[in-house]
Amino acid sequence: MAKTPPTKSHGRLSISASLQPRDLMVDRPRLKGAWCAKVITLFPDAFPGVLGASLTGKALQDGLWRLEPIDLRPFGEGKHRNVDDTPAGGGAGMVLRADVVGKALDKAAQGTPDRTKWPVIYLSPRGKPFTQSMAQSWSQAEGLTMICGRFEGVDQRVLDEYQVEEVSLGDFVLTGGEIAAQAMIDATVRLLPNVLGNAASTEEESFSNGLLEHPQYTRPATWKGRNIPDVLMSGHHGEIAKWRKEQSEKLTKERRPDLTGKDADDA
Ligand code: SAH
Repeated sequence: MAKTPPTKSHGRLSISASLQPRDLMVDRPRLKGAWCAKVITLFPDAFPGVLGASLTGKALQDGLWRLEPIDLRPFGEGKHRNVDDTPAGGGAGMVLRADVVGKALDKAAQGTPDRTKWPVIYLSPRGKPFTQSMAQSWSQAEGLTMICGRFEGVDQRVLDEYQVEEVSLGDFVLTGGEIAAQAMIDATVRLLPNVLGNAASTEEESFSNGLLEHPQYTRPATWKGRNIPDVLMSGHHGEIAKWRKEQSEKLTKERRPDLTGKDADDA
């Protein structure tokens, strides 16, 4: 890459001429009614990304969920399909234009039900922190639309006009919303029926009962002089369950006292 000073942070992007979203694997027979994530992004090629691997990837292939990246670029203005402009009031960076993002949201809204069944989210460090209970609730919806910001973010008016909910991956600043979108989609998709092989595992894992999960072990029984705790090798299911619960409670108290006693629904 040439080392030119980045006067406009999007300067190296190529322009895509198509208004058609890349609807991945739409022709698969089981897709009708499958949970769907529509993701508005300047980087549609970043999808499915890691969501294409392992269990989420297999579930995508099998049509258990659907992914529709919506390229923001074709909604841009003028010959260069500009999507951003300088911040009103001055300051560094660029802001994604309300009119451009609005057109992409209109496109995304086609064929979707009301917000109770289809949340519309802007990935944003200013948003409500993402939790397991949000993932639970989104997995009950028919799908969702996500806006991935870039640069300094999105013009406030489009968030107000479309009543977009802001959700944050955590208290840090990413370069764009794509990684946050993939993290949240992953957490949601693995809760959909049949995505994980062992359905029970989502009920017992961290956060689902307001506790962190107990430690896990597997073979070999001894490694570098460290043994698997005897109780786990004892075959006493009652004792094992008791030990795991105690470990869970101890760990949660030590590491996340803010979680103790909280039900997943309070999160
Ligand atoms: N100027 C903004 C940060 C912009 S970061 C501020 O200070 O609040 C660029 C884009 O990355 C954002 O528009 C958002 O979509 C995404 N992003 C950054 N941090 C994020 C986080 N913690 N959670 C979700 N999205 C984030």
